[in-house]
Amino acid sequence: MSPSPSPSPERQSRSSRDALNQAILGLGKSYLSSFSDPDADLDNGTPAESTPLLPQSAAPQKTADPNKTRAAVWAGLTSVFAAALIVLLCFPHLLPDALAPLVGRLPRDPTRAALAILSKAPVIDGHIDLPIRLRIAVANNVSAVDLEHPFVGHVDIPRLRKGKVGGFFWSVYVPCADPAEEGEDFLTSTWRVRDTLEQIDVARLTIDKYPDASSCNPPSSVFQPALSSEDIKAATSKGKIASLLGVEGSHQLGNSLAVLRQYHALGVRYVTLTHTCHNAFADSCGMAPGMEPLHGGLSPFGRRLIGEMNRLGVLVDLSHTSDDTARQALGHSRAPVIWSHSSARAVHDVPRNVPDDILALVGTGEGQTDAVVMVNFAPAFVAPPGNATVYAVADHVEHIAKVAGKKHVGIGSDFDGIESTPVGLEDVSKYPALFAELYTRGWTQHELEGLAGANLLRVFEGAERIARVLQAAGTLPAFDVYPKRTDLPPKLPAVSH
Ligand SMILES: [Zn+2]
Repeated sequence: MSPSPSPSPERQSRSSRDALNQAILGLGKSYLSSFSDPDADLDNGTPAESTPLLPQSAAPQKTADPNKTRAAVWAGLTSVFAAALIVLLCFPHLLPDALAPLVGRLPRDPTRAALAILSKAPVIDGHIDLPIRLRIAVANNVSAVDLEHPFVGHVDIPRLRKGKVGGFFWSVYVPCADPAEEGEDFLTSTWRVRDTLEQIDVARLTIDKYPDASSCNPPSSVFQPALSSEDIKAATSKGKIASLLGVEGSHQLGNSLAVLRQYHALGVRYVTLTHTCHNAFADSCGMAPGMEPLHGGLSPFGRRLIGEMNRLGVLVDLSHTSDDTARQALGHSRAPVIWSHSSARAVHDVPRNVPDDILALVGTGEGQTDAVVMVNFAPAFVAPPGNATVYAVADHVEHIAKVAGKKHVGIGSDFDGIESTPVGLEDVSKYPALFAELYTRGWTQHELEGLAGANLLRVFEGAERIARVLQAAGTLPAFDVYPKRTDLPPKLPAVSH
């Protein structure tokens, strides 16, 4: 869709400009008249002295009275000061953009406004695929990576800085197994858990690799590991890039809740219930329309997975899931949930995007679940071929905001996990362009701060709160075993002491 030009939020009426002009004009006249009065510098009735350095033929000079001159200068300065004060207090919107921060106002220029907003509330992206980029590009050899200079793909440190990025989830993704290899009951072992551990390893080593030259005492890194919402705030307050881990599909769990717990111990803070394949826990939406369901949404084991995620404080991520999985998870999860990288189906009709009837289940009202839908930039999910632009991405943001509310939308670019990018959002340096576009469309600073990261932080805090409640209530870890496994005895009752 094309951008819809709309009035700047700072635009003011012509009448207020006229009033200001009159005020300044009046003050200016008063100021100038003090200098244009031919008698202002004269001592009344006293002949002017002539300077001895001038020839006698020179016209006699009037001598200025120092007191009157001083008074005139003070009057002029006072007038200028008063005019400036009037502008500051009554007409701040008419100040040049460069002076806008002095009165706590955003610049009128959308790009400068976006940069000002993101400088205070940087972007927390829900999904960046840098670890799989590192796996493919350098076989996980972190010593062969230089993110301080232009790096292949969409992400490096200079571009993260330019894009005002304050944090992101490093997706520790590995692809679905070949169904023929894994078997229809997902029982044949694969290397998915090993590969996920390697993804966690390459992410953590990269996070620790880059010292921050601006803070050598004590030494710290550009990226700062983050395990909680408080960690994100602490990192961004120091100008660090908060770094979280997210597992993109519970096919990476080896059908085991124990594996979930150990991923959590290694720092994972969300698990996407599915990737493009069904798994033991839930149905996927696949990639193309018409994916045949396996469980009809969540399996009973999948419900236990969500319960354990709630207990641990691992966010339930519904990107990639089938609609039935998403609906059932919204109803089953006690904690707020996320879509780490999904857009709006009403704007572009593909299975990976969230339909309106599910967006309507998002919120804090009766029958709703708090959530944040973090908009994906993948061109195939944004618009028909050739039409993916920053404006089309803004359309997705606005649609999700219209149906679910502006407190329920965020950013989940999928950078480094997508082959191409929208025009205007080519890499992590370009987030401000999206915020500038939404600023032009009338989004306020507060709303844009929510989009940048505050909405995700609220949801994350909600999940942490539920985890504390469940743990304080003595909720035991879930010891359920995937029912189709035969290598372990059936679940035994808990022993009470
Ligand atoms: Zn994905």
